[in-house]
Amino acid sequence: MSSGQDNNSDGRNGANGKKTYCSFCHKSFRDVGPLVEGPDDVYICGECIDLCQSILSQEKRRRDANGKTIKRVPAPREIFAKLSEHVVGQDYAKKVLSVAVHNHYKRLLHNSSTNNSVIIDKSNVLLIGPTGSGKTLLAQTLAKILDVPFAIGDATTLTEAGYVGEDVENLVLKLLHAADFDVELAQRGIIYIDEIDKIGKTSQNVSITRDVSGEGVQQSLLKMLEGTVANVPPQGGRKHPEQQYIQVDTTNILFICGGTFVGLEDIISHRLGKKSLGFNQTIQISQERQDNVLESVTADDIQQFGLIPELIGRLPIFSPLAQLDEEALVRVLTEPKNALVNQYKQLFSMEDASIQFAPNALSAIAKKALDKKTGARGLRAIMENVMLDIMYDLPGLPAGREYKVTEEVINEKAPIRHYEPDSIEPISKSA
Ligand code: ADP
Repeated sequence: MSSGQDNNSDGRNGANGKKTYCSFCHKSFRDVGPLVEGPDDVYICGECIDLCQSILSQEKRRRDANGKTIKRVPAPREIFAKLSEHVVGQDYAKKVLSVAVHNHYKRLLHNSSTNNSVIIDKSNVLLIGPTGSGKTLLAQTLAKILDVPFAIGDATTLTEAGYVGEDVENLVLKLLHAADFDVELAQRGIIYIDEIDKIGKTSQNVSITRDVSGEGVQQSLLKMLEGTVANVPPQGGRKHPEQQYIQVDTTNILFICGGTFVGLEDIISHRLGKKSLGFNQTIQISQERQDNVLESVTADDIQQFGLIPELIGRLPIFSPLAQLDEEALVRVLTEPKNALVNQYKQLFSMEDASIQFAPNALSAIAKKALDKKTGARGLRAIMENVMLDIMYDLPGLPAGREYKVTEEVINEKAPIRHYEPDSIEPISKSA
């Protein structure tokens, strides 16, 4: 290693004329510190060693990932079945997504194989449905099924460059994080953008620190959705000396956008109503389709809602999600693999006890969630509130008991009791 102590000012060793600057970046040892000397007057500095290290590990991960590349794309039916293990109802959305995702990944295989004259276009997806109906869950579950990196972003935090807020590139940065900075892997990932409806032109969401119309954000999203090489600032990610941006090609990233689109139903009903002949008939059609009106959504309706046509064009597949009703909410509590009821059963069995939920108790929880109007999202908070006291006491209570959550526990805040063959004894409610 050259020490540099007997070097002269032009960066050469005065005694033997050896170079004392890095053969890779040509910086002097004075700027970059000690150099490692190789044969034939070759030197390398610490920064270049770091860079080589990161290039090599990225290449290694790429090779490892190639073993994991999607060799076989699961059939839509298979994707549907796997989605159903986690997501209750929403069959139409599941079907649309299964086909879209199947085609997307088939397209990756097809377009990457040689001499294909037909290039299959990418099909990003727009999910339209009330809050807590499973939009994020669907996107998240898809990424798990396909074993690809997944990132969630919120369109309301996106801003045009120069405004306070996040740049659109940050969405890709999140995906890079999820892929552990493996660019190749990230380029095949899925990004879910929530609240896409909130950047509509007609949005009431006005802030002085943000692009108030939202249209500029839509414009900056366009290229990203279509496919571009995004310059992503690593910002606190892995160090990339000499490199300010990581270039990520978004062509093969699948974008799933979601939004509640409050007011869209009125736009659709109005359109459906206008098409009918007489006034009476108008009302009849509107009522008939009241529940499933979102299923008739068209690109025009979404444009009228406030998304710019170019953005709608890049989200060619829409799928409505229905509001979960009481029955569906009960199923959410019990059916998915990690349903809340199963989670509590597991927690109780870890304490050598068991817990049962009476069907009418589950209905009462579902009714409470319906009142909150937050869909399935509200279930956890209600459940945790109900279970707080018993979870607090459980580790200190005798083992082997069977507890039962009844309707009274939910509606009248009665304590959760345990049942033994001959006695029914309330446990203390106080902490
Ligand atoms: P949003 O439609 O607002 O994106 P999420 O997908 O984030 O709703 O749902 C919030 C939570 O509610 C999820 O974590 C999940 O536990 C539950 N959930 C929502 N919809 C469903 C569903 N259809 N099936 C199962 N669980 C659901």
